[in-house]
Amino acid sequence: MTSASHSKIIVIGGGIIARCTALALLDRGCTVTLIAEPDPVPASWGNAGHIATEQVSPLATWSTLRRLTTDLFPRGPVAIDWKRPQTVLPWSLRFLRSCKARQQERGEAALRDLLSDALPAWKRLVARMNAPDLLDERGIVKLIEKSDANERAAYTLRQDWGTSTAKSVDPETLKQIASNFSSPVRAGIRFENTAHITNPTRVLDMLLEAFLSSGGTHIPAYARNLRNDSNGVIVETRNTTIQADCAVVACGVLSPALLPHLVLPMIAERGYHLEWDHGGEWTGPNVVFEDRALVVTRFENRLRATSFVEFTDHQSAPDPRKWQHLERHIRELGLPVHGRFTPWYGSRPTLPDYLPALGTTGMPGIFAACGHNHLGLTLAATTAERLTAHMLDGKTFPPALHPDRFGTAPSSTSHFRKH
Ligand SMILES: Cc1cc2nc3c(=O)[nH]c(=O)nc-3n(C[C@H](O)[C@H](O)[C@H](O)COP(=O)(O)OP(=O)(O)OC[C@H]3O[C@@H](n4cnc5c(N)ncnc54)[C@H](O)[C@@H]3O)c2cc1C
Repeated sequence: MTSASHSKIIVIGGGIIARCTALALLDRGCTVTLIAEPDPVPASWGNAGHIATEQVSPLATWSTLRRLTTDLFPRGPVAIDWKRPQTVLPWSLRFLRSCKARQQERGEAALRDLLSDALPAWKRLVARMNAPDLLDERGIVKLIEKSDANERAAYTLRQDWGTSTAKSVDPETLKQIASNFSSPVRAGIRFENTAHITNPTRVLDMLLEAFLSSGGTHIPAYARNLRNDSNGVIVETRNTTIQADCAVVACGVLSPALLPHLVLPMIAERGYHLEWDHGGEWTGPNVVFEDRALVVTRFENRLRATSFVEFTDHQSAPDPRKWQHLERHIRELGLPVHGRFTPWYGSRPTLPDYLPALGTTGMPGIFAACGHNHLGLTLAATTAERLTAHMLDGKTFPPALHPDRFGTAPSSTSHFRKH
């Protein structure tokens, strides 16, 4: 596809990936319709807000596998929903295959390349929206509480974190940071060249506003069916049928429903948060408590504590014990709490190799931008730029990110999903 200004494109999905992609395509002169199910609290809203440029290794590794066994809930943050073997087993087998050294190397090279431009792309995006204050570039601090803190900190400092740099927090600053907590902290590492989104609601709202004010069309509806024919693509919602030259599926964990011609083994890797008013008492940095697998992020007058990886089906009921654990950590750490906790849970869209699926899907006119797992916020702006270059200028993605890398399903040109 080359005549950008004449392209009619439908972007399906309401999260950060779809919104960034819709805006990027519009800015290149395409006529863009965003079809998004009304959903004020997708994963793109409920996350920890971290632009995690330091997370350069895909999580499909043998060490993750070890953690999946040693860090099981309630001892740690991991839960595996074995009551749903049809979801968990096929995904786990593919995960094991992805841990092989060769696969890991290819995956890491592709991820490092994406991450190398993740923060610059976010800076361009917030500048485009005239909202530089949406990005806080002070970086994140990892705190270690247990007695082996110094060895672990030394190990962390020796690692290669891509475009991010890990620096030891000096004793005086560590003392200051630690004074925010009732629980003792033994070591601290600051990851520089990382950032945070300062307001998760505003970032999503501003993307939609920028899209609409530049001439984009928004249809708040669930896309029930996507198919292609000789004229392009057709998307059906409950009330309308829309034709375009091509479509991008960016529906997070629900993306496979619109791409039945692909084997796209997506699991819901669910996380939980509690959010509350800190009453103006919080002055500390955004923090990862490594021993608790807990991230504490400030969003203006609110604090949000985020944790857990629960491998399950997107539709399964939440586990209220996860919120109780979050509350226990908040109380133990002595974080300032004013008012009630607001609980949330949501799904990271995760493929077994912990890499996103980006680009052409093998079905003419149908593209994918999904499977961003723990890094969807981080990679949203660069995904949008790269997918736009792929669709309009023919730039390629490495095979490790191809949406058909897990295979294709028996031929299917049409799919209908009741909703
Ligand atoms: C607890 C937690 C903490 C996280 N922390 C971070 C972090 O700090 N940094 C980071 O980079 N990432 C983080 N992530 C991951 C990140 O939030 C996700 O990778 C990202 O939000 C995925 O974005 P998405 O747009 O693909 O999907 P989603 O945010 O899930 O959005 C998909 C949207 O599409 C809509 N939709 C689905 N199907 C259809 C359809 N057929 N028609 C129309 N609309 C449809 C849904 O309603 C939804 O609104 C975290 C995730 C969790 C759960």
